Amino acid sequence: MQPPGGRLECYSILGHHATDSAGFPLYDDGFVGTLVHEAGHGYVNPLANARRADFERSAPRVHAQVAGAMNAQAYPWTSMVNESLLHAVEARYAEAHQGPSVLPKFFADQRRQSWFWVEELYNLYGDYVADRRSYPTFAAFMPRVIAYFDSLPQPVMFEIMPESVVEYPSETILFGEKQEEQGDFLMDLRTGNEVTVLDQSRHPGGANYAFADASARSLAFGKCLSPVNLWGVTPGARNNP
Ligand SMILES: [Zn+2]
Repeated sequence: MQPPGGRLECYSILGHHATDSAGFPLYDDGFVGTLVHEAGHGYVNPLANARRADFERSAPRVHAQVAGAMNAQAYPWTSMVNESLLHAVEARYAEAHQGPSVLPKFFADQRRQSWFWVEELYNLYGDYVADRRSYPTFAAFMPRVIAYFDSLPQPVMFEIMPESVVEYPSETILFGEKQEEQGDFLMDLRTGNEVTVLDQSRHPGGANYAFADASARSLAFGKCLSPVNLWGVTPGARNNP
């Protein structure tokens, strides 16, 4: 809000998921991440918005590569930038308050939702923390963040592969079945999706799979991963069940 002639004031008003016995909102430990994130918007949005022209060089093409996931979360490229900066802040906060052991899962969750660059951004923030003489404010550090976005490869292109690299089309899975509550669109072996997301016993006797040669068949539990990992394309991924 902005009172006439006054400063613009930002408030972060959070909904609640639980109430106590008297009916008052309950904000417990599980809420802290959201609070850090939402409070952070008050700082991050003005910083990123002030450099919008710089981010426009890179962020739209990054966004185009993950548009499905971002649009599902209702994020245009401008919000994607703000959210990225905040996700890295959340990681820093989690590390400081819960310890570094929580980070692998945090980054795995980020990647599963297509925020592929958050871990690198988190690492980049380390330069800010370590050299406050050069970067007295985060605004002074923003050129580094902008340069990082500029440096993203024709981005996350490594997520896409031409059909010609699939050597065994009838033995390479294209689609599988996932657990009901999982929102994933992509199977990612790097983050253990075969354990956390895949539902190998969706139906009596196993689950159904579509293969790269356009065939489909049912496989018993475990058979899509062993003796050959049928989700893999490279020999390394296929022979490492
Ligand atoms: Zn947000």
